Amino acid sequence: MERQTATFNANERVRPALVGFEPYDPAFSPCEVNLSANENTHPLPGEVQKALEQAMLSTPLNRYPDPLANELRDVLAAWHGVGRQNLMVGNGGDEVLFNLLFAFGGPGRSLVVAPPCFEEYKNFAKMCETSVVEVWRKEEDFSIDADALVSAAKDAALVMITSPNNPTGDLVEPALARRLLDETDALVLLDEAYVEFADTEASFVPWVHNNPRLMVLRTLSKAFALAGLRCGYLIAHETVVNVLAAIRQIYSEDVIAQAVACAAVKSRGKIEPVVRSIVSERDRLFEGLCAIPGAHVWPSSANFLLVRMADAARVRARLRDEFSVLVRDFSYAPGLSDCLRITVGTPAENERLLAALAAIVEGQ
Ligand SMILES: *Cc1c(COP(=O)(O)O)cnc(C)c1O
Repeated sequence: MERQTATFNANERVRPALVGFEPYDPAFSPCEVNLSANENTHPLPGEVQKALEQAMLSTPLNRYPDPLANELRDVLAAWHGVGRQNLMVGNGGDEVLFNLLFAFGGPGRSLVVAPPCFEEYKNFAKMCETSVVEVWRKEEDFSIDADALVSAAKDAALVMITSPNNPTGDLVEPALARRLLDETDALVLLDEAYVEFADTEASFVPWVHNNPRLMVLRTLSKAFALAGLRCGYLIAHETVVNVLAAIRQIYSEDVIAQAVACAAVKSRGKIEPVVRSIVSERDRLFEGLCAIPGAHVWPSSANFLLVRMADAARVRARLRDEFSVLVRDFSYAPGLSDCLRITVGTPAENERLLAALAAIVEGQ
């Protein structure tokens, strides 16, 4: 038998639909102030922190998790005014997004998205051999061309739109969601990863009751300050939930994540003031960024702001290298030339960012 060790290359054996994918690179560099990933950087109240730690420490690790996380589903269901049968949890919202494409996409089917938006929709669709139809937002204000989106969605299996959108910060108009449901037969996902930072009426969760094709994605990664825990969930019609329950990785939501998520959701009343203070910091940061000469800032209903300024990639590198402040560079992305996305930090972090930006712009 011929020995082929020297010429072996697993790339040649990858399933064709998966050729060319690269490991995700969040472009992270260690910095004193990290405003690059839309995490919640504000400390949680001591009492909440204690409850989370207690949940972590008192969870035995020798038993398998409950595959459907029923206790957590009940806690979430009580919050959102739906039944357990309307909820599916996942290892972050990302897993739920993947499973939606795995279940409802596939060869001969398409996903409609409205970029610039979260890149994972497209990546997961491609992995699941689902074609992607992009209806680009208008360049000036990132608004969605409703006619174009509805017409694309007429032939689609799925539509994924984000409210508030990442990275543009704007909400989906209820009229657009209405048209997608009335004029198409697609499954419509509203991704509400950041909705806790928007006005309380902004959520589409109440629509799930009367609209079986509407699905809402939520996560504990942003407002709940649990990005490292990995817990996201879908609120949807019970038949959607049942399909996802049947195809998911059975133990993807581990016992610690389930226990801590339960404690966090039960503590949501005490986390709410932290969310409100991020919102007021967002408004202050918005003003501060508007005052930087040459900067254009878009209004945002999320915990980040999108800013366009000359030489954005270089500004980002200088923030990182000279001021130890990390923000996210979108300047390479279509439709987002010279744009940076800045997470709203603590008052001290935001001050430091604004002072650094002012110094960079003045020195130019
Ligand atoms: C952060 C985010 C998610 C989900 O993140 P997880 O950490 O996987 O829960 C989903 N959609 C958008 C648009 C996001 O920005």
